[in-house]
Amino acid sequence: MNMPGHFIISLDYELHWGVFDQKSLDSYRSNLDQVDNVVKRLVALSNTYNVKLTFATVGFLFAEDKKDLLKYVPENTPTYDKPQFNPYPIIESIGDNPKQDPYHYALPTLKAIHKEGIHEISSHTFCHYYCHENGQTPDQFKSDLQAAVAIAKSKNMELKSIVFPRNMIEPHESNYLDICYEQGLKSYRGKEKSFIYNIHTTKFYHGWFIFKILRILDAYFNITGANMYDLKSNYSPGKALNLPSSRLLRPFNKTLKAFEFLKLNRIKKGMTKAAKSGKMFHLWWHPHNFGSDIEENFKNLESIFRTYVKLHEDYGFKSQTMSGITEELESSSKSNN
Ligand SMILES: [Zn+2]
Repeated sequence: MNMPGHFIISLDYELHWGVFDQKSLDSYRSNLDQVDNVVKRLVALSNTYNVKLTFATVGFLFAEDKKDLLKYVPENTPTYDKPQFNPYPIIESIGDNPKQDPYHYALPTLKAIHKEGIHEISSHTFCHYYCHENGQTPDQFKSDLQAAVAIAKSKNMELKSIVFPRNMIEPHESNYLDICYEQGLKSYRGKEKSFIYNIHTTKFYHGWFIFKILRILDAYFNITGANMYDLKSNYSPGKALNLPSSRLLRPFNKTLKAFEFLKLNRIKKGMTKAAKSGKMFHLWWHPHNFGSDIEENFKNLESIFRTYVKLHEDYGFKSQTMSGITEELESSSKSNN
């Protein structure tokens, strides 16, 4: 039997730990202030439309308080050539717990999402780890993931998939991907196939300005196609499964307001193609991207969800979490053997 098409949504849930090397807390506080509300609203809206979400969460956010966080800090922390990528020195200056410092902890919200039993709490590494930065090693990455798995486990949450910070992973990097699999993280979000998403050097990640422009244009106009994927051909038993991104849901753009419909149509067309051909469409963003223009962003998302419901009714298009789809493929591969 042919597989139905699948709709995956992953969210990089990180609060200040996702931008600590680029933005000071004060300069980004207003966006971060909204994240908790945004996450709650996202969950409520998704429940209304029967859409499952995967929250790829930075391990630090699972801590009950600073003492709890320090308990899980590995001995073998990343030795980046550029010390600004190392978040560990920041721990000293953060507040003691989620109540005091909602920019660096999120356990109450994680527990609320987990309790629903619908959505997945996934990994975004323990410390927002950068696999393509010079100076760090696969061993340090392993220690990082062990810490992420352990702190989640201590809160009765089992991590089964991963999103790499800044998407720093290539499908051929089996040294990193095998470590994920060994730690129980059996799928990951890879990048879009097109070269405009794959130009990078460690020096200037994601390449030249021209590619940034192309990626923005691609959000509105069809430059790289639908970016949908045949999962069966990606699956290989015993290996971390690549669930590549189809599209970043860019936040509402006031300046390009008149073109928002193009951006949404581009996503909906990709979803429709995936639904009709039994493929996967994977949409992602960060909850803090919804931190300004909240109403407009939720209006956009609701219109995407309405399309999903229609495609579910017409073609059996199915919303799934990252680990949910991985388990589906695992069991269908077992029953075929
Ligand atoms: Zn991130």
